[in-house]
Amino acid sequence: MGSLEAISKPHAVCVPFPAQGHINPMLKLAKLLHFKGFHITFVNTEYNHKRLLKSRGPDSLKGLSSFRFETIPDGLPEPDVEVTQHVPSLCDYTRRTCLPHFRNVLSKLRDSPSVPPVSCIVSDGIMSFTLDAAQEFGVPNVLFWTTSACGFMCYVQYQQLIERGLTPLKDASYLTNGYLETAIDWIPGIKEIQLKDIPTFIRTTDPDDIMLNFGRGECIRAQKASAIILNTFDALEHDILEAFSSILPPVYSIGPLNFLLNDVTDKDLNAIGSNLWKEEPGCLEWLDTKEANTVVYVNFGSVTVMTNDQLIEFAWGLANSNKTFVWVIRPDLVVGENAVLPPEFVTETKNRGLLSSWCPQEQVLAHPAIGGFLTHNGWNSTLESVCGGVPMICWPFFAEQHTNCRFCCKEWGIGLEIGDVERDKIESLVRELMDGEKGKEMKKKALEWKTLAQKAASGPNGSSFVHFEKMIREVLMSKI
Ligand code: UDP
Repeated sequence: MGSLEAISKPHAVCVPFPAQGHINPMLKLAKLLHFKGFHITFVNTEYNHKRLLKSRGPDSLKGLSSFRFETIPDGLPEPDVEVTQHVPSLCDYTRRTCLPHFRNVLSKLRDSPSVPPVSCIVSDGIMSFTLDAAQEFGVPNVLFWTTSACGFMCYVQYQQLIERGLTPLKDASYLTNGYLETAIDWIPGIKEIQLKDIPTFIRTTDPDDIMLNFGRGECIRAQKASAIILNTFDALEHDILEAFSSILPPVYSIGPLNFLLNDVTDKDLNAIGSNLWKEEPGCLEWLDTKEANTVVYVNFGSVTVMTNDQLIEFAWGLANSNKTFVWVIRPDLVVGENAVLPPEFVTETKNRGLLSSWCPQEQVLAHPAIGGFLTHNGWNSTLESVCGGVPMICWPFFAEQHTNCRFCCKEWGIGLEIGDVERDKIESLVRELMDGEKGKEMKKKALEWKTLAQKAASGPNGSSFVHFEKMIREVLMSKI
């Protein structure tokens, strides 16, 4: 039996989508809620829970008495050992299979005398099956879309894009015949964008495509949420955030969450981690030996894959730029095979290149030695780069990464796009980023955004700080 104080706490059940780029921000949000006095139940999939235990050690998920973990199956018939996060399968199976398991977790919590009654659900925007359970249990459900506001706004337009006949594509030639350059000027809050900047699931000829329909369906269901949370800040995406007010339930921009988390100093809470891959030590110590703004950081996140030929072009582009670099090559980065780097590349760069399989990215991007980031523009990576004041070279892979790339390059002044992966192009972009005039301008701009991000997350008047408090008061605690 918990103490009276413990069982009278508000209780948030947090449900991330089972992929790295979703678990990380959800864990941050859960820690912030815990800091604000909530009891937390964090619901991972069984598969990811095992991976977390393996990568972080058995003690890492013990949590605190008021921060507990539960698991549900992801529904996938068998884990794919080669691709650890196959997003379409995860979307399809979680949508179809998770609800009854989630209901069981809520019933178990309801029947447990040692935890406070569940008072709200905070689930990923693409785990909207929780809305049904929230209704049954009579608690508010906030959806946390872990995308940028620009990316989310584009997903919200999927239905319109279908109705206007812009997707599905008539045939596969539309992928290459210039059609994707069609200008779109009617999306609320977005001045100008092309079809190729819209999240990539519209690039299909199949009206029954899983991801096109999943994206569309989840946005329609978002209408039923008590509120929506985004990990972004007003100064960065003001017009879009404002445009949401007439089309969706209340949207609260409460990012960057890592800056809001600066206030949280509880060691036990901070020790709870979310890396699905085992972190290789040594990277930060290596960076400590380098001059400020001299190192290029290369990392394509947790889902991006490439061919070995592309890997080799990146390798020679980096080598020929003559810059110092940290390059994270995930064990499953190269499709269907192990990454094979040319031995000459390894010899040539051994004194100025650090290769790693997984690193503490947020700390790396905050390190003064890092001068630029070659990224796939996942939203977490993009925002972590903004927080570090680090300009980017952008190589978006899929989903709304193309939207993020567009905004980095055309709106925020902090990105250069690669396009096709060719060593000469990469070499010249890396040189431009690190030494060129454009690179200097981007660095200045990135530092300005960093300052604005810090301001947004600072109390008592920063926009994200204020929205976070307001969201707790007006939504999460509304039924208490
Ligand atoms: N990440 C990390 N170490 C790595 C690679 C990635 O800690 O070596 C983290 C990164 O900081 C970010 C997340 O994994 O928080 C990746 O999310 P993102 O949205 O950038 O991309 P995704 O993996 O979803 O494509």
